[in-house]
Amino acid sequence: MAHENIFDFSAISDECVKCGKCIPVCTIHNVNADEVTSPRGFIDLLGAYHKGKLDLDANAKDIFESCFLCTNCVEVCPKALPTDMIIEQVRSDIAKKFGIAWYKRAFFLLLRHRWLNDIAFKLGWTFQTCGFKIRAEIDSMNSRFNLPMIKSERLLPSLRKTSFLNSHKENINNGGKRKVAVFIGCLGNYNYVNIGNSLLEILKALEIDAFLAKDQKCCSAPAYFTGDFDTVDANAKHNIEYFEKFGDDIEAIIVPEATCSAMLKIDYEHYFHDQPEWQERAKKLKGKIFMATEWLQHHTHLEHLLASKKKDERIVTYHDPCHAKKMQGIHQEPRNLIKQNYKIVEMSDPNACCGFGGITMQSEKYHFAHAAGIPKAHMIGQTKADVVSAECSACRMQINNSMSNAGVETIFKNPIELIAEALRK
Ligand code: SF4
Ligand code: SF4
Repeated sequence: MAHENIFDFSAISDECVKCGKCIPVCTIHNVNADEVTSPRGFIDLLGAYHKGKLDLDANAKDIFESCFLCTNCVEVCPKALPTDMIIEQVRSDIAKKFGIAWYKRAFFLLLRHRWLNDIAFKLGWTFQTCGFKIRAEIDSMNSRFNLPMIKSERLLPSLRKTSFLNSHKENINNGGKRKVAVFIGCLGNYNYVNIGNSLLEILKALEIDAFLAKDQKCCSAPAYFTGDFDTVDANAKHNIEYFEKFGDDIEAIIVPEATCSAMLKIDYEHYFHDQPEWQERAKKLKGKIFMATEWLQHHTHLEHLLASKKKDERIVTYHDPCHAKKMQGIHQEPRNLIKQNYKIVEMSDPNACCGFGGITMQSEKYHFAHAAGIPKAHMIGQTKADVVSAECSACRMQINNSMSNAGVETIFKNPIELIAEALRK
């Protein structure tokens, strides 16, 4: 993209040559085949809005909230027009004009205060069996009743009594000469806690000390995708200041989550486009932030260590999270590590978005998330793999739900969990 202002909707709209290359890959267009819910449709409307020719009314709100922010369009666009980023930006205007639904505000309030989140999730754990049927084997649960936002068919991540961060000391000495910090992400902290535990096992095997950075706050990706920029501002500034304090003592901040990693590494810089001092500070930290498989493969001997371990008979298929492959170029690293001990069978389109799409897509627009998720579930089923893996817990939540709805019985594991299992053998 040639122009300097990445959020200049008019310039972006003028650059679109209407070639249509983005249409066949667009996640929303594939489940709602209407020109207005396509990348070039969004861009056209945003250009009109910027020029004062389109009111941000309820209809426009509905349209702009229909994008999955999957970046499929950016990947194929000859001009690399950042449709996802300008939609993230306009959602802030939408939030200012229409407000944010009460349940989203309540959720974002929790994301701003980890102590409150700790209490809420502990209470949730205490009472979850009253309202939900627990499926412990896949860290999930179904509602026992149809609720306004949650239908009983809906599979959600189940809660843990104690979060990952509260289960361990902050400094874990593995007797090594190297040290990394761990940024765990909210789903990894409160729901899929085996990811963090597995990461600690791997660091122990590699004799690398771990700093769990217990003052970390949610990266704020859910708030960013919903237009709640006050939460983004507060959490991003807190995390940047906090990372700066310990940044010189560690080699890297490793993140076993594609969305959190992309938010910290890429979206913070975009978000701070109009706060140059903070943008500079976000940029300086970029070199320290890595997805876990990325850092483990390029900066340790883990691949060789795994090669010395036994082969596992299970077949694995790998799904590429949008925030890993398309945003950060990470796709070979998890495969290189997994393939040392497991047979990988690729699904027909590992790069296709799973259909998670953020909180609005998972609540008011769940019918779109459901429709986008079913083809991914069938793709996974066709491989006959025992395990589907992706380094992203938002994908995990969505894929588990889609597989449950499509009758696919494949188990989901983060690559970090598969690697730790291989090291135990
Ligand atoms: S691929 Fe890019 S230039 Fe072509 S229609 Fe889509 S947004 Fe416009
Ligand atoms: S980000 Fe995804 S859903 Fe949104 S316009 Fe682009 S391809 Fe379509």
